Amino acid sequence: MAAGGAVMKLTRRDLLTAFLGAPIAMAACREGNESTFPVGEIVGQNATLGHVLREMRSFEVPEGNWEAKKVAIVGGGIAGLTAAWKFRKENFNDFVLLELEKEPGGTSKSTKGEPVGYPWAAHYLPVPFKENTELVSLLDEMSLTEGRDSAGEVVVKEQFLCREPEERVFYKGRWYEGLYLGIGASEDDKRQFAGFQRHIDEWVNWRDASGKRAFVVPLANCSTDAEITALDRISFGDWLRRQGFTSERLIWFCDYATRDDYGLKADQASAWVGLFYFCSRVRKSGVESQPFITCPEGNGQFVNHFVDKVKTHIRPSQMVVSVVPTENGVDVICLDDGELRGIHCEKVIFALPMFTAPYIIRGFRDDPPFAATEFQHNAWFVANLFLKDRPKPRFAKDFPMSWDNVLYESPSLGYVTATHQKGIDYGPTILTYYYPMCHEPEGRTKLFNYDWKQLADVCLTDLSRAHSDIYELTTRIDIMRWGHAMISPRPNFIWSGVREKAMKPYRSIHFAHTDLSGIALFEEAFYHGLRTAGEVI
Ligand SMILES: Cc1cc2nc3c(=O)[nH]c(=O)nc-3n(C[C@H](O)[C@H](O)[C@H](O)COP(=O)(O)OP(=O)(O)OC[C@H]3O[C@@H](n4cnc5c(N)ncnc54)[C@H](O)[C@@H]3O)c2cc1C
Repeated sequence: MAAGGAVMKLTRRDLLTAFLGAPIAMAACREGNESTFPVGEIVGQNATLGHVLREMRSFEVPEGNWEAKKVAIVGGGIAGLTAAWKFRKENFNDFVLLELEKEPGGTSKSTKGEPVGYPWAAHYLPVPFKENTELVSLLDEMSLTEGRDSAGEVVVKEQFLCREPEERVFYKGRWYEGLYLGIGASEDDKRQFAGFQRHIDEWVNWRDASGKRAFVVPLANCSTDAEITALDRISFGDWLRRQGFTSERLIWFCDYATRDDYGLKADQASAWVGLFYFCSRVRKSGVESQPFITCPEGNGQFVNHFVDKVKTHIRPSQMVVSVVPTENGVDVICLDDGELRGIHCEKVIFALPMFTAPYIIRGFRDDPPFAATEFQHNAWFVANLFLKDRPKPRFAKDFPMSWDNVLYESPSLGYVTATHQKGIDYGPTILTYYYPMCHEPEGRTKLFNYDWKQLADVCLTDLSRAHSDIYELTTRIDIMRWGHAMISPRPNFIWSGVREKAMKPYRSIHFAHTDLSGIALFEEAFYHGLRTAGEVI
């Protein structure tokens, strides 16, 4: 590995082998089809925070740079924005939201673009069950709904629900409908898939003595029955093996699920979260999983709504460097364009990733209220490819371009098509390509040692197997490297007790981040934003 963040000096073959495996690398180097390479850049994320925290020993705020607010929300991702939204709903206005980046949104941010906007990470929200009343009220407020059905479940307007065709999978040179590879499945594959489905149905219908479901969103409403939490102690891969599942395509399907939602392989994720993925959004056995709400910007649409509601309270480009508990409350110190500013607060909502707490909260290390090192994150890179036209299908009968387009023989997650939801099926488009670094033990460090050209090469080489014209069609690729993309729900984390401790306030500091659920989801960030807003007022 290159030292000090220098670019990795690798042959192209080494690079492609590391990301895509030897067979793909060999074929790509033989073909050498990267002659027309698009332009682009690495975008986003302020990378100076760690440096500032290491270099600056004391944060002396000039006398005239202090002000007072009842509450400061630190961090403007979904959790922080939700808390701010709740404050405004409750008519509480003596607060400020401090965000590091120029734009709030965190891992739900998006960019406005042509012909449509596009996401940088989160891109969908499943329709919530009726019990998730606050989330339903957000959807009502955003005019995404058109009433309730006879069972009282929210009905989302057709134009906001992911339109068909929703997903397809590329396998041995062709595209097929859906994510489970049905084509060529043997009788044994079919039997195992049906057996897996029976397990899911059982867990969906399971209730504990108090009537709680095994898996439901938000996670706070899940049963804590020992039978269920024991599933957190083994990996999903182990669980599948213990049930006797060996079908390659079933194992792939489950592995895809955990890589997609948690950035972990099935052998790295706990069995509890593996089953949560399949069960938590299914109302009862035999019923489809809840449909997805999406739009070109993905979950950026929720960020935009929140920002619209609370914009006067948001201060962007504010790097919070110190949160200091005092006798009367909490002081928050931030770096504003090179100048230190301070806010005396009664309470703080700390909506940053949990691992940052010991670095930012003064006194945390001396008497830690919870083990911050238990909150471990994985790294991803996300690329947005700007295409002047659609890739040509190789075969007339290929399943058509869908919202989600997955490559079976790739460690990436494939791409989402930004124009899909708008029904723009011809001409220029933007493809958002996702790559979780779960195949690399040192994923994060390595990610930051690859430059734009290397990551763009990985992405184009991967996609060129399905779209041989991708080089000619792509005019630009921008890439976001997410060093701490999402919390890793590995075995023995979710039900280890560390989350419960971290959810308790520490000296007038209330923690709110999706990390506190042990899984990275919009609904979980929303839940913790609401929870802390409620605690504070
Ligand atoms: C690649 C990817 C795809 C995803 N896809 C989906 C999806 O489709 N659906 C879904 O529901 N979820 C998805 N997620 C998860 C989802 O994005 C998160 O659960 C949710 O947005 C987290 O919100 P948050 O507020 O808890 O945290 P974050 O998004 O981490 O927000 C934290 C905020 O704090 C700011 N910050 C950090 N340090 C400082 C500082 N020192 N001072 C001030 N501000 C600071 C950051 O800039 C950021 O804005 C995805 C995540 C990733 C990475």
